[in-house]
Amino acid sequence: MPSYLELLKRLPKTNCKECGLESCLLFALKVSAGEWDISKCPSLPKEELAGKVEERITFNQLLENLKELKERFKRLNLREVAHNLGAKVEQNLAVLPYLDDEVLIELDANGYPLSLKSQKGFEPDPRDEILLMNYFLYNGDKPLSQEFVGLESFPHSLSKVATLKRYAEEPLARLFDEKREAVLEALKSFKISQLKVSNSGISFIVYALPRVPLMVNYWAGDPEEGLSSYCKVLYDASAISYLDLECLVFLAERLAEKL
Ligand code: SF4
Repeated sequence: MPSYLELLKRLPKTNCKECGLESCLLFALKVSAGEWDISKCPSLPKEELAGKVEERITFNQLLENLKELKERFKRLNLREVAHNLGAKVEQNLAVLPYLDDEVLIELDANGYPLSLKSQKGFEPDPRDEILLMNYFLYNGDKPLSQEFVGLESFPHSLSKVATLKRYAEEPLARLFDEKREAVLEALKSFKISQLKVSNSGISFIVYALPRVPLMVNYWAGDPEEGLSSYCKVLYDASAISYLDLECLVFLAERLAEKL
């Protein structure tokens, strides 16, 4: 079975309840724990889920993990950590740049988080919430190295490399192949640097989170030579101090989705 995060990202997150459960998040948790039938969601592209086996933990453990993450986040004083992570605190609000948006976190009088929403008014996706809570809780303190490395350079990353390729690098390559100008236009909404555009490819650094820049390198294919286009996402060598591997992969995937 896929992990609940892997599964959640394949679900439409409409919470339509056709599977017999209250929400897509609950469905993802129960299926990952082997306690619900994956075929009960009519929206799920089942073929995409074949062959992924991850550590089996029980539904209760998964729920506990999520609950514990939320509890730990609620106990984190954002006034104390915001600056270190590139967020600004304005009165009772912490503002964190996130991809092409900003996340607004309402704070109580002492600086503890109450609620989280998107500046652009989008419903927070549970995957984004998990990623953002982790970003604050990790509270990484390694300075950015400006050295960009592949995901495979991080320990225990082997199983994630294929996920990154499938859900971020290949979709990005397709986007640049098919909608190059529209993607370049969309990039203007992101904080990017070192943009290089040529006939043979595109390269840029995007600040997906203030302390987690991604370098995206795209090489255009040459059908006459039988060469396919190719995209590689690189991370600052310090990225693993700010997020776990799963969230790093998800961040690149989210970038592809936003573009
Ligand atoms: S049927 Fe699918 S889309 Fe509907 S709530 Fe269940 S998991 Fe979500």
